[in-house]
Amino acid sequence: IPRNPPPTLHQPELWTGIFNDFICKCLIKDFELRPNVLDLLQHVFLQQIRGKEKVLQKHLMEHIDLNQQLGNIEKTSNMNSFTDVEEVDDLATLEVLDENTVADNLQGRYAKDQIYTYVGDILIAVNPFHPMDIYTPEHTKKYLGAERKANPPHIFAVADIAYQSGVSDSTDQCIVISGESGAGKTESAHLLVQQLTFLGKANNRELQEKILLVNSLVEAFGNATTAINDNSSRFGKYLEMKFTSGGTVVGAKISEYLLEKSRVIHQAAGERNFHIFYYMYAGLAERRKLAHYKLSDSKTPKYLFNEHVKLGPDIVSNASYKEQFDAVEQCFKVIGFTLEELGSVYSTLAAILISGDLEFAAVASEHQTDKSEISNIPVLENVASLLCIRCDELQEALTSHCVVARGETIIRPNTVEKATEVRDAMGKALYGRLFSWIVNRINALLIDPLNICGDNSLNIGILDIFGFENFKRNSFEQLCINIANEQIQFYFNQHIFTWEQDEYLNEEVDVRMIEYEDNRPLLDMFLQKPMGLLSLLDEESRFPQATDQTLVEKFEVNLKSKHFWRPMRVDLGFGINHYAGKVIYNASGFLAKNRDMLPADIVLLLRSSENLLISKLVTHPLTKTGYITRSLTTFIETQSCADIFPILNYFSMREATHHPRETTNMRTQTVSSYFRYSLMDLLSKMVSGQPHFVRCIKPNNDRQAHRFDQEKVVVQLRYTGVLETAKIRRQGYSHRILFANFVTRYSILAFRANEEPAATPESCTAILEKAKLENWAMGKTKVFLKYFHVEHLNLVVQRA
Ligand code: ATP
Ligand code: MG
Repeated sequence: IPRNPPPTLHQPELWTGIFNDFICKCLIKDFELRPNVLDLLQHVFLQQIRGKEKVLQKHLMEHIDLNQQLGNIEKTSNMNSFTDVEEVDDLATLEVLDENTVADNLQGRYAKDQIYTYVGDILIAVNPFHPMDIYTPEHTKKYLGAERKANPPHIFAVADIAYQSGVSDSTDQCIVISGESGAGKTESAHLLVQQLTFLGKANNRELQEKILLVNSLVEAFGNATTAINDNSSRFGKYLEMKFTSGGTVVGAKISEYLLEKSRVIHQAAGERNFHIFYYMYAGLAERRKLAHYKLSDSKTPKYLFNEHVKLGPDIVSNASYKEQFDAVEQCFKVIGFTLEELGSVYSTLAAILISGDLEFAAVASEHQTDKSEISNIPVLENVASLLCIRCDELQEALTSHCVVARGETIIRPNTVEKATEVRDAMGKALYGRLFSWIVNRINALLIDPLNICGDNSLNIGILDIFGFENFKRNSFEQLCINIANEQIQFYFNQHIFTWEQDEYLNEEVDVRMIEYEDNRPLLDMFLQKPMGLLSLLDEESRFPQATDQTLVEKFEVNLKSKHFWRPMRVDLGFGINHYAGKVIYNASGFLAKNRDMLPADIVLLLRSSENLLISKLVTHPLTKTGYITRSLTTFIETQSCADIFPILNYFSMREATHHPRETTNMRTQTVSSYFRYSLMDLLSKMVSGQPHFVRCIKPNNDRQAHRFDQEKVVVQLRYTGVLETAKIRRQGYSHRILFANFVTRYSILAFRANEEPAATPESCTAILEKAKLENWAMGKTKVFLKYFHVEHLNLVVQRA
């Protein structure tokens, strides 16, 4: 038993881990076990003994000499037993660097609840799927300014290194968290914010508390239960924490990307709407305030349940939802929202929910058979009342539309189908805009409220987007999510491989080149103009006669890429070989989702609302357009070496300087053009800071603690390029510092304080030798260092 002391019978979870590991080892190494032991192990392995102590106990009684038998086996075999596997904190230091060794290493560590492992300066986090006691205040302190080697790998160490580099180099930092859905990105982001808030030693406790609440608040509106993850992020989030140059936290700012609005009106099998709807419904019921918002506990709104999840009556009695509602309200209040604003938020949410119950019926008349009318007027009255608009006008805007022909405005009736579409479009638009408004309001309240920094703030950004998804049925939303992940992977590759290797060539530093999987051809296929997938989608969206069928055909004719294929026998299906695996998409609804039209009649009507919030939602550009546009333009103009950021060339300058939401003509702005813009905006933020990477790994598909599915992990290691990263980190130099900067930073180690050594290779060599460092390299203009060299130097300087 590879543990000392072995776990007791009351620790079934420890046994599971051990048995799983042991069996995997035996199977992998084709190792012969005495049949009775194998039987036992397999039995336990298959049954997953969690909660089955009795079964284990029975088997142990039958095989009382288990320990002895295992001992015998180990003695009589040459097998590299579990205990013999060399486990290291940093995969880049492994003697043998192949897929199995890396996976074995992670598995061995995982079995001991060591979920974090480094690959050079990158952190791998394997989701434990159970609460861990490694985030206590003691751990917080332990990782404060500590040398990396002093502690086991930890997410707090990443926060610390980003913070220390930011403060000491006065450069913005960016922590990029990636991994598939359910891998643990959002949890990691929370832990980073927690540690950074501590490091930022906010003397303003109130601000500290507000920053910690931001995530919970935004996630109540932007997260939902999916088939993969109970708390899945349905939007991308970039949280920037702002510090003074001395490192005191002074504020925070969130940017949100691509909320999956369609979830408001429809959820796939086994999935749910955004959390906030359930929280509010249960919370208002508890407070007996449902009626105030025109809701009723006897009739659950349709948007809250789908035919696959019979949640109806359970919602109001769900204690956790009620608690969450109180918590969300508390967050709103602490962050600074007024009670009036809160009331408007609830009214808007209630209006969206109730609008889902609006029903339409066809009106047959002599002349027109395609007219529709609302068949449940009381519901209409409730929606109109919550939105503070006129009931008759709402009815008109839903069941008819204006057309301008030859200078004349003609009113045309909507069919039942069309009216239903308008209803759903209104719900989606209201929710999307409400979400953006909340984010902007938080920003207004939290971006350096006391203006301590002026223009001189230090930013540490944390990127947590929706992870790669592959469901049974994948639609437009999955395509956008997966393209965004493709983009993040490309950035990772650029940073880790391309730019690094280019720099070796330019600086004439001799390092063996590492092969890696380049996903650029895929990105080209999506983003190129005019023949990339998104451009084709936009083009087709402009043709009124186009259908989803003509769209797929257009893809098939124009996308000449081995990454695109049409599966047999799937109507409207097309397949993409993503970097993270093959996904089959169903193009049904693509055009409508991309057009995402909100009829002008509805916009005008909502604009007339007496509720200030609602009219604001459809009136003002929601983002601080000027701010984004300016920062983006400046960013592009200040990059002298455009070739370093080839990805930015995908986007034209025109797009960069015109925020799509500024467009007055709603029809020309498609989701995909906005998506393109968002990616660009996100990327510009990422490349303007020094990046740190956290790679989250999902150890199994069943969200089970202590279960490590080697095959699943190996696939993730493969597509994220962990092995290649380990190689490049071992052979390469992650830090390149200009002679002048190096001398300024570290001259104290080899020269007297009044000396001013020249920025030459000789001065740098003198410093490196004095610090007793080896294996560095000298380029033409820069010193090339391994990541641990920098840690060592910083530590010595601190001591000096
Ligand atoms: P998505 O892409 O769907 O948003 P994600 O990568 O953000 O997924 P999380 O929501 O962070 O995934 O994690 C999924 C679940 O895994 C969490 O709800 C939690 O139960 C568990 N989990 C993740 N990280 C940890 C951790 N460090 N400790 C304990 N549990 C964790
Ligand atoms: Mg998430």
